[in-house]
Amino acid sequence: YVVVPCYNEEAVLHETSKQMLELFGEMKNDGLINDNSRIVFVDDGSKDKTWSIIDELTKAHTEISGIKLAKNAGHQNALFGGLMTVKDDCDCAISIDADLQDDIHIIPDMVRNFIDGYDVVYGVRNKRDTDTFFKRFTAEGFYKLLNWMGAEVVYNHADYRLISARVLKEFAGFKEVNLFLRGMIPLVGFKSTSVFYERHE
Ligand code: UDP
Ligand code: MG
Repeated sequence: YVVVPCYNEEAVLHETSKQMLELFGEMKNDGLINDNSRIVFVDDGSKDKTWSIIDELTKAHTEISGIKLAKNAGHQNALFGGLMTVKDDCDCAISIDADLQDDIHIIPDMVRNFIDGYDVVYGVRNKRDTDTFFKRFTAEGFYKLLNWMGAEVVYNHADYRLISARVLKEFAGFKEVNLFLRGMIPLVGFKSTSVFYERHE
């Protein structure tokens, strides 16, 4: 499953679902996924047409499903809610933002790594060229500060990753309420690897 948290994403949903469906078609041909594979959009209490677009997409494409949260819960909670909803139906789940700044063409590689036995596959940006100096400087400071405080975070990795159902089931028992998934996933200590990509505008 691919899980996509969506807050006021009416402007991108058609393009995002089109690109993801194309990729799903290719991956099915290559035998990497099957007819039960799904793209799950999680509407995090959007105020625009996000949910009605998701609803339309689910009717037009069997590959697409939707989850509607009762109110806006924030990115990490929406993502976690989505992952916990799909954990018993999938072999693994990939989380990605709705705007596709993160390159979806590394998803087949993520799945190949999963098939090879990795439980977690991090999507890692290999460049910060599209960022301003200010963004780069503050982002680097953020990673340094987190590591100094003892959080093991993967540098230049955000919330683009594959997680096996086995690890998702471990997370179901986590009682952490201030969710910061990328700091928590390294903590559970399963076999992990990274796949690199360049981030789009
Ligand atoms: N998002 C969400 N709930 C929120 C805010 C954001 O589900 O309250 C989603 C958003 O639709 C996107 C992802 O989380 O798919 C990342 O959000 P955003 O693009 O605002 O974060 P940034 O790219 O600035 O880190
Ligand atoms: Mg974004």
